[in-house]
This record gives sequence, structure tokens and C-alpha cells, in this order.
Amino acid sequence: MLFNNNTISISFSVNQFQCNNIEIWEDEDGREEQVLVEMESTFSTEYIRCPYCGGEVNGNGKDIALLKDMPIWFGIKQEVKVEYHRYRCKKCKRVFSEDIELKHPGVRTTERAAQWVKGFLRQGLSVKAVSEITGLHWNTVRKLHEEVIQDKLEEREKHLKDIGYKPVLLAVDEFAIHKGHTYATSVLDLQTGDVLWVGKGRTIADFQRFFEDIDPDYLSDVEAVAMDMNASYNKVVRDNLPKATIVYDRYHMQAQYGKDVLGAVRLYEARQHQKEAKEILGDITPETTSVEKAAKKAEAKAQSKEYSKLKKARWLLLKNSSNLTETARNSLNDILASHEDISVCYAMKEEMCDLFNLRDPKVAKERWEKWFNAAEESNIPPLMKFAKKKGERIDGLVSHATYPISTGKLEGLNNKIKVAKRIGYGYRNDDYFFSLIRYLSIPAL
Ligand SMILES: [Zn+2]
Repeated sequence: MLFNNNTISISFSVNQFQCNNIEIWEDEDGREEQVLVEMESTFSTEYIRCPYCGGEVNGNGKDIALLKDMPIWFGIKQEVKVEYHRYRCKKCKRVFSEDIELKHPGVRTTERAAQWVKGFLRQGLSVKAVSEITGLHWNTVRKLHEEVIQDKLEEREKHLKDIGYKPVLLAVDEFAIHKGHTYATSVLDLQTGDVLWVGKGRTIADFQRFFEDIDPDYLSDVEAVAMDMNASYNKVVRDNLPKATIVYDRYHMQAQYGKDVLGAVRLYEARQHQKEAKEILGDITPETTSVEKAAKKAEAKAQSKEYSKLKKARWLLLKNSSNLTETARNSLNDILASHEDISVCYAMKEEMCDLFNLRDPKVAKERWEKWFNAAEESNIPPLMKFAKKKGERIDGLVSHATYPISTGKLEGLNNKIKVAKRIGYGYRNDDYFFSLIRYLSIPAL
């Protein structure tokens, strides 16, 4: 450093505080340089009135606040030491401190340092990055980040209120936090993309909190809510939004069908081939002629081949048939031709995907009923079981024709969660994390 306070004199004041000294020092190897600006209050008691009762005050000693500041020269830490007054009210005897306007409330930094940090955070830099750039402790940066998030969320809320906006179509779903050990529930406005709410847990009681946290009037225009049929969200929606239509999400339904029906039947058939192969080999005795033995071995090998074919066919069966390559289509047809149950379940899957494309509720009702009847009469246990359980909730499937909505958009939340984890470095606080997710979901204007 090329300046020292023997050759220059700096005098300035901020509000009622007057700078009375600037210390500049560096450590022995000349690397850690630091500037300390010392300021003291120029207020005398005659200017001050009690904030509680307006009475006159006496001095009650002094106190010191050490505030991190923006560096004047980059890379050189700067702190401001503020000596401020404490007062005692002559009338009500209450004690209070002088207002330090150059301090940002809630953190030990100057106001301008706080604004500096918030500027970086508004650009989407992570808490860790901003902490490294500014040299401020990450916890201070995180606190300021909370302010940035809250301000933006409030601004968004106010904007929507000002234009008289109310959500019409919602989606609710759970997502895993902390690597799947705990869950959270989120509610999305399907038209704007705003995440309206995020709450811990995924039970009925957890979701009920959404309706306690949100102004019921804001939800008075909701017409339909998309959700996973498996969750018990439907009861909560029916209780709180009796006029809203429940729509079961096609992606959850298709995924469950893929696992519980196609997956189960495929694995059952695969194991049959494995069993068959074992039995054939078990038939070989010392008396079996070498010709017979070779034939049996070939037969067992063919069964084993079928077994491994089916074991590997998971994605082949789940994939949308129109997206298959020719080779894939051929292996699929090969499997379907030799396995009747799989073939039936596969056709039912294709039909189900079609049902979600219907837009006439009358037609949809007929077709879904037909689908469930066929499933129940299929004699294929996993398919019958699936149909029995889902058939009770046919209304929420038919309503997809009127409101073709899904929770698919909430899948996009997974990316936001990843970003939130990166930005909110070291987060321990769920509320902060959830607000961050909502903040990230605010549509860019
Ligand atoms: Zn008073």
C-alpha cells in the first residue's frame, strides 16, 4: 500500500457519525491488509426523544458496533467501528440505543456493504461465491439472501394482487429432499408457473397447511387441481375447494401401470422361463442318450435366452411405441408374439395413453369404463388388481378430458431444487430452502 495516514487526512461524516480516525495496517508478510474507520456519534441528548413515550432523555453510556464494510480498495478488508450512544428516558425510564442508519438491520455490516452483497445475489450468484467475493461470512450473506428472496416474493405477490390475478389451474406433488430421506409437498400455478407454496412432509396434514397458509380468497377461482392418484391429496382438495375438479396425473398413472402391471407380468414370465430351463436340465439323467441330452440342453438354452430377453425388456415395454427404432420394434414384436399376457398388458398400456388424449368427457367416460371392464376380465392378476384399485377413482381420470392438466410441470422443479442447493450453499433451514425454490420459480418478466 502506498498511502498512510501520516500523509493524508480524511474527514467525513455519515448521518450523525463523524469519522475521527482511520487505521491502516498489514500483517508481517504484508499480505493481510486492513482498514479500520472509526466513527463516533455527534448527537447530544438534547436532540433525542424517547421512541416509546416521546419524553426527554439522559445519556446512558456508549457502545461500540463493529461493522464489515465494502473495501475502498479491492482485496483490502475494511471495517467501520461505530461508537454510538445509549439513552435512558427521563419519563418512562426505558433504555434504548441510538439509531445507526449506516448499519444494515439484522447483520453486522454497513448498509452499503449489504446492498453490495444483495446486488451480487440478485444476479443469481451462490451464497458461497458471494461470500468469497466480498469476504463476508457465508451466514451473513445467507441472511441477506433471505431478504432478497422475501422482497422478490412479496413484490411478485403484490403484482399479482394489483392486476387482480387468481389461479385457476393448480398442480400438487411431493418431491424428495436430502436424498430421499425426507419429503416436501409443493403447489404450482399451472398457468403462471409460480410455485405457490412448499411445505415439509407429504401427508394429508402436511398438505392441509397449504390451505391455512394461503388466503382462501386467492384460491376462490380454482377450477381444477392435478395430482398423483396414489397420494391422498384428493381428500384435502375436496374439503378445501369443494367446487374444484380433481384430475389424476397421467404420468404418475402411466408410471405406476408400467411398474405394477407391465413390470410384474414381465418378471413373472421371465421367471417362468428360468424355471422351465431348470426343469429341462433336471430331466437329464445318466440314462439320457447323448442325442437326447444335446436336444434338452438346446431347449434349456432357448428358455434361458427368453428369460434374459425379458429381463432386459423393461424400457422396451415402457417406451412410447412411436419412438422405437426398427430394431427395437422387432424385438418388441418378438416378445409380444410369444407372450400373450404381456401382449395384452402392452395393448392396454397403449390404449390408456390414448385415453388421456381424449377431450370429450362423454367419450372419455365410455372408453375408460370399457378399459376398466376389459382389465377386470383379463384374468391377469396384476392387471385386475390395478383396475380394481384405480377404477374407484375413474372420475378423476375422465376429468382429464375437460382439464388436460398434469403434474408434469412440477418435474421441472427438480432442476430448481438442484439450483437451490447450489445457490443456498450450506442451507440447514427448510424455510429458507423452500422460499428459495419459490423465488427461483418466479417467471422472468
Ligand atoms: Zn419514555
